[in-house]
Amino acid sequence: MAKAKNTVWLAPGIPFQLEYAPEALEHVRRIAVEAFYSMPRGGMEVGGILLGRHGNGLVEVLNSVPIECEHASGPGFVLSPKDHTKLAALVAGGGRQPGGPELRVVGWFHSHTRSGIFLSAEDLAIHERYFPEPWQVALVVRPEHGAPARAGFFFRGTGGSIRSESTALEFKLQTLAHASPGAVWGAAAGIAPTSEPLPVAGVPDPVPEVETIESPPEPPAPVPVIPVVEAAPRYLLWLTLALGLVALIAMAGFVYRDTEVKVLREDIRRERLRARELERRLEVERKAHEAQVARPAPPAEQPGASQ
Ligand SMILES: [Zn+2]
Repeated sequence: MAKAKNTVWLAPGIPFQLEYAPEALEHVRRIAVEAFYSMPRGGMEVGGILLGRHGNGLVEVLNSVPIECEHASGPGFVLSPKDHTKLAALVAGGGRQPGGPELRVVGWFHSHTRSGIFLSAEDLAIHERYFPEPWQVALVVRPEHGAPARAGFFFRGTGGSIRSESTALEFKLQTLAHASPGAVWGAAAGIAPTSEPLPVAGVPDPVPEVETIESPPEPPAPVPVIPVVEAAPRYLLWLTLALGLVALIAMAGFVYRDTEVKVLREDIRRERLRARELERRLEVERKAHEAQVARPAPPAEQPGASQ
């Protein structure tokens, strides 16, 4: 199976290159969203460690392992003493998987289902205690109802301090079906993929291609809606033409009727016709042809009309 392209998380101020494999964050997204919907009013918050590689100024997030939080104090991601013991063991194990590539712990993740994307004082304490390396990162995922989950990484700047009140670059965690083949963020941001392979120390397999997240990313462009402003002139043109046509027909009708009346008057004046008022209609008799013309009543009312 072809390896998916890595995505680059290019936030301002980050002192190393941070990349992630889309399938690794898809795993994180899935467990965060499932826990979000597992109970009403915000669901459960979950967390785990991020595994990957680090070297030559590059940090790659390639896998994740959830922490079995017992949620002793509620649905929030708050670690009990038992949870701390599990997390310590997980980190000490270094994320080694028999038969798999040798990965190391590059950070951790957890979800916030009732608050925004930031690191609380408790989160910072976990980060300092278990993930003290300058290149280790924290990822906060915020599931949303009926929308892609939002996410953001946190990292130590060049001075070692962490901007914890908000992430330096928020992004959306699309389902992998939407995110693959890894071109979504780069294409949406209008950024060409990195042309040169990035150096990775001690990695035998080929360096994956990368895509870049830079400006606040958006999902693929929606189907463009035709602006009403553009449609208006054509609509007005048709309306004008239709109104003009109606006016012409009405004028033609008046002219025709007027002509007819003139002809009748001329006939009466020349005594070719004899007109008399009969009840509520005008009965006109053409002398020459012995024909009867009734106006303005319809022909059906005339005497002698066929039944
Ligand atoms: Zn938190």
